[in-house]
Amino acid sequence: PEPGEAILRIDRVRKSFGGLAAVDELSFRAEAGRVLGLLGPNGAGKSTMFNLISGVLPVSSGEIRFLDRRIDRERSRVLAAQGMARTFQHVKLVPSMTVLENAALGAHLRGRHGLLRAALRLDRAEEARLLAEAAYQLERVGLFAQRDELAGNLPLGQQRILEIARALASDPVLLLLDEPAAGLRYKEKQALARLLMRLRDDGVTVLLVEHDMDFILGIADRLVVMHYGRKLADGAPREVQANADVQLAYLGA
Ligand code: ADP
Ligand code: MG
Repeated sequence: PEPGEAILRIDRVRKSFGGLAAVDELSFRAEAGRVLGLLGPNGAGKSTMFNLISGVLPVSSGEIRFLDRRIDRERSRVLAAQGMARTFQHVKLVPSMTVLENAALGAHLRGRHGLLRAALRLDRAEEARLLAEAAYQLERVGLFAQRDELAGNLPLGQQRILEIARALASDPVLLLLDEPAAGLRYKEKQALARLLMRLRDDGVTVLLVEHDMDFILGIADRLVVMHYGRKLADGAPREVQANADVQLAYLGA
């Protein structure tokens, strides 16, 4: 897709759990080559929206389009094969595998099925290709020196970056990140922010879910703010930060 082109369109999407509308008539777009921040206080519905986009949950109503295809009834495995890569709010690496092997799992994901099962049946040429791609992504995110360490031994900040490398190794059209800075130390957050800005400069499209306004302000090109499942604001980060409704939601006043 061309930079600026809308590759993800959310149109009047609603998701209820019993009587509660966790996502309520939400509409927004994500554009190619930009970082879109989905911001909101805890319980705003961000993770629910994220799971609707990535095919983990079905919508109650409304439409989601990815690359002009309707995807609101699509399974997450199919979406991954079409170029949607995600990380999880809780780290999901294979701790007993090396950093390089974890990244290689991502290279295997795109256009494939049965991640681990299939990974065990690789022929040598295929394995070499995946490891080369994984090594390239580790260089890109600054983890190449740690390639032979066990993933479970990395500090949390590096585990999060490894998850991003693994997602990048699938050559995604859209990278979905759910609170990648959660639980990180200040220096780790800074390293993550620098990486995300570098990826954006490389043309990677990112949807970044976050509750920490300070973290997201310097990174996102555009912010959509959610509150009680609804859209509170949508615009340039500084504009959104100055919005009185947003300030109220954040102060809890
Ligand atoms: P956020 O990620 O912004 O913190 P969530 O999307 O996790 O918010 O949650 C939004 C609301 O939906 C919360 O009130 C939460 O308790 C509720 N919720 C989320 N998932 C479920 C579920 N599977 N079943 C019932 N309620 C849920
Ligand atoms: Mg969440």
